[in-house]
Amino acid sequence: MKIICIGRNYVEHARELNNPLPKEPVFFLKPDSAILRRNHPFYYPDFSNEIHFETELVLKICKVGRHIPERFASSYYKEIGIGIDFTARDLQRKCKEKGLPWEIAKAFDFSAPLGKFLIKDELADTGNISFSLKINNEIRQDGNSSNMIFSFDQIIAYVSKFITLKMGDLIFTGTPEGVGPVKRGDRLQAYIEDKKLLDFPVR
Ligand code: MG
Repeated sequence: MKIICIGRNYVEHARELNNPLPKEPVFFLKPDSAILRRNHPFYYPDFSNEIHFETELVLKICKVGRHIPERFASSYYKEIGIGIDFTARDLQRKCKEKGLPWEIAKAFDFSAPLGKFLIKDELADTGNISFSLKINNEIRQDGNSSNMIFSFDQIIAYVSKFITLKMGDLIFTGTPEGVGPVKRGDRLQAYIEDKKLLDFPVR
C-alpha cells in the first residue's frame, strides 16, 4: 500500500507557511514504513530539531481505480480516520531552498501516526467534519473539512489521473492552520468530532 499526502489544502495553513494557494492539488507520497499504529510512541529522530505536527483527515481507499471521475469518487472510500503528517520542518526548508524533493522531511520512518477509522456513512456530512488535536490536553489544531480547498472527491479524481489507487491506500487530505513543533514528553490526542481516535506519546 501507499500513502498519498495532499499539501496546502487549507487556505490559512498555506498562508502560515507563506505558500501560494494551489490551483491544483499538490501531493507527495510516504512509504508504508512511515505508518505508526496502535498508539505506539513516536521516537523523536536524531536528524531533525524541528518536527512539526500536521493533523489531517485520512481516507482509506476501498477498491482499485484510475482516472476516477469526480462524481464517482465517493464510492472509492468507506472509512475516514485521522493521522499526523509529521514533518521535519528544518529539513523541508532546506529542500525547498535548493528545489529538491521533500522525502527526507516527510517520508521518514513513523512519520505517519494513524488512528482508528470511522465508517463514512456514520458521519452526517463528509463535507462538514470537524477534527482537532490536543497536545498535553490543550487544543492546538482545530479544523473542518468544509475549509478544504479541494474536496475529498476532487482529490481522488486528481490523484487517480496520475497514480492507480488500490485497496488499502491512504490519502492524508491536508492540515489546517496551527501547525507547530512537538517535543519529547508530549502526548498527542486526535479527534474526529468528539471521538478520540489517536492517542500517543513523543519520546
Ligand atoms: Mg500535511
